[in-house]
Amino acid sequence: MPQLKMPENYLKSNPKIAIIGGSGLEDPKFFKKIKEVNIKTPFGYPSSPITIADFHGKKVAFLSRHGKKHQFPPHKVPQRANIWALKKLGVERIIGVGAVGSLKREFKPGDIVTSDQFIDFTKKRDYTFYDKETVHITSADPFCPELARLLYQAGKKLNISIHQNGTYICIEGPRFSTKAESKFFRNFADIVGMTLIPEVNLARELEICYSSLASVTDWDVWKTGREVSWERILNTMKTNMVKLREILKQSILKIPSQRVCPCRNILKDAK
Ligand SMILES: [Zn+2]
Repeated sequence: MPQLKMPENYLKSNPKIAIIGGSGLEDPKFFKKIKEVNIKTPFGYPSSPITIADFHGKKVAFLSRHGKKHQFPPHKVPQRANIWALKKLGVERIIGVGAVGSLKREFKPGDIVTSDQFIDFTKKRDYTFYDKETVHITSADPFCPELARLLYQAGKKLNISIHQNGTYICIEGPRFSTKAESKFFRNFADIVGMTLIPEVNLARELEICYSSLASVTDWDVWKTGREVSWERILNTMKTNMVKLREILKQSILKIPSQRVCPCRNILKDAK
């Protein structure tokens, strides 16, 4: 079987940190854009050109997960192209920003959550780069502990209502859950979303650190009278954007240049 050829670094003095998120983060007041690159990968083009920006003296890459025109629904995001393109740029750490519903009373709309575990309830996505060789990466602790800690500490310092160690259940979508599903999920997870999988898995397969920074927008459908709607999600997302930006700012400035976490050599024990 031919070995998968790892992408080589695309640019010199490239960004080592990337944010994958929605359009609200790409405000010129938040990022000082240096340039935009459109990177072709063996899996096609990413969901958007990648913005390389100066972020208080640190170079950061920004990728719009759903495309600049929000043209990719969660189940159609070209995840392999996205992660491959970031690896090609030289990115070592990814913060995946997204919106989630709450499955627990203590996780309120407006709160922010970093995760330490996920449950995968998606159905038909491209889950791996390794279709032609056998590679089993460990997923016991699927998120970068260092990145998650920095995000959580930044939120705490800013006095933002933030939770650590939230279990994220990722559903296929694009429909929301039924009440029966939502009640079932509540037994095992804290938050529910549609975008985490396979973003986190693919990043790990290329030895990139990954942490999820999720904003709670609604109560999903388990709470009677407070059913999820797209309009309600958009409203809460707007107010949460300010908090997410502050957390990103505080935490990214604290990320050390050298990695010591286990993410950086996961493949060693995977083949
Ligand atoms: Zn890591």
